Formats: sequence, C-alpha cells, structure tokens
Amino acid sequence: MVIKVVSSSSKGNLTIIKLSNQKVILIDCGVGITKLKKELNQSLNIQSIDYLFLTHGHQDHIQGLASIVKKFPPKIVYLSNATLNLVKDIFYDYQINYQIIKRDQELITEDFSLLTIGANHDFPQTMGFIFHIEGKKLSYLTDSGFVDYEYLEAMKDSDLIFLEANHDETMLNNDISISYPLKKRISGPLGHLSNDSFCIVLDNIITKPTIVIAMHISQERNQLKLVQDCFNRQIKRKYKVDLYLSTSVEFDSLKSIIL
Ligand SMILES: [Zn+2]
Ligand SMILES: [Zn+2]
Repeated sequence: MVIKVVSSSSKGNLTIIKLSNQKVILIDCGVGITKLKKELNQSLNIQSIDYLFLTHGHQDHIQGLASIVKKFPPKIVYLSNATLNLVKDIFYDYQINYQIIKRDQELITEDFSLLTIGANHDFPQTMGFIFHIEGKKLSYLTDSGFVDYEYLEAMKDSDLIFLEANHDETMLNNDISISYPLKKRISGPLGHLSNDSFCIVLDNIITKPTIVIAMHISQERNQLKLVQDCFNRQIKRKYKVDLYLSTSVEFDSLKSIIL
C-alpha cells in the first residue's frame, strides 16, 4: 500500500492510503479539492475514493469536505454523530452514503478491519483509528490532549504510527500572540499532544521496527527541528524507527511512503 500525508497541521489535515488493489482510504478532509487533485493526479493516479473517515468536526479536518465529495463522492463515509451534525447538509446535497461510528467499535470491510479509539479533545466524540490492512497494523491519532492507557495498549505492535506532535511546550508558553486561556486549551487534557507527550506515547507503544509520522505540527508553536531533536533524544537511540515529519497545506506534501 502507499501512504500519503497530503497535509497535517492546524491549517488542514488529509491523509491518503492507497491499497494494493487500487482502492483508496481518505482520513479527514481538511484541504480543498485543488490541493487534493494535484496530489491525486500527480503522484497517486487516483480517480475515486472508496472509504472516507472523519476524526472530528473541527474546521482543519472538514473544511474541504464539500469540494471533495462534489468531485470524488466517496462510496462510504465513517463519522461520529457529533461530526454528522455539522456536515449533514453537505451529505444531503450530494447524497453521500455514510455510517455512524463510535469509539471502541470494530469494523470489518472487504479490504481491512479497524478499531476506533477515543481521543481526548474539545470536540465531542473525536476518534483515532487502528487499521489492519494487508497484514500491516496502522495506528492513527491526532487532536488528543493525552492518550488513555487502554489505547496505548491497543496501538502496540504497529507497523506505522501516525501520531500528533503539535507543539513545543516552551514555544507555547513563550508565545505572546495568543491568550492564556488558549494556551491552557492547547496544552490541556482536551487539547493537543506536545513533542514530549508524542515521545512518551511512542516509548509506550513501539515494540518492533516501525515507521512514525509526526502529525499536526503547529507552524506557530513548533518547529520541525524541535520534533526531530525530541525524537532523537528520547526514541531513536532506543528503537529502530524511521521518522517522517508531516507538512502543512501551503507546502509540498510529505513524499509517499510504501508499506
Ligand atoms: Zn486539528
Ligand atoms: Zn481538533
């Protein structure tokens, strides 16, 4: 399969998984059709979307939904009730087939099986996913202030881990452009994982050679170098792991990863 993180940041999130049988899974719709089409045509030659998963209803995860489903109506969309409430007009307009999912739910399709996991975030019912696809295990979690112990257990033995490394705590504390309540929101239990939390989670779930993609990296309150340094200090010397850093919607996407 081929993995492509088109964008992951507070500006927009969208990840593509193209299976060996050419079917396509999309996770989130936080970039518009122009950016997506460029990626689909240029690098992946994708004509249609088979499965769409929405983690939650914040703008950076759904803002491209209308333009994407208009051009590439997905065969099925999986989303929570809370997210559906925000997007149901779009689904009605384009007659989109969908299925409501909850955390801790197992799904089996003809192409993969999946366990939904709960994120701790300030949008209700925010979810992550653990996929079993073509003999590989892929764990996906962003937008979570912390990770519950049961999900650390569930994410062990992954072949590929998409995990949020949102902010550097010092940069967040020193940022004078945002209010104290917003700082508390970002770093709080319903906010986002810091670089240190990212490494602590990895330290708890890596059990074998793995690929890690650092996701949802803040452009204002983090730097790619800081994520890399934290990872090198706390993870790289202990485990055989390749780290990729996701980019934001304005930049060229992360190169495709073949798994
Ligand atoms: Zn987000
Ligand atoms: Zn969010």
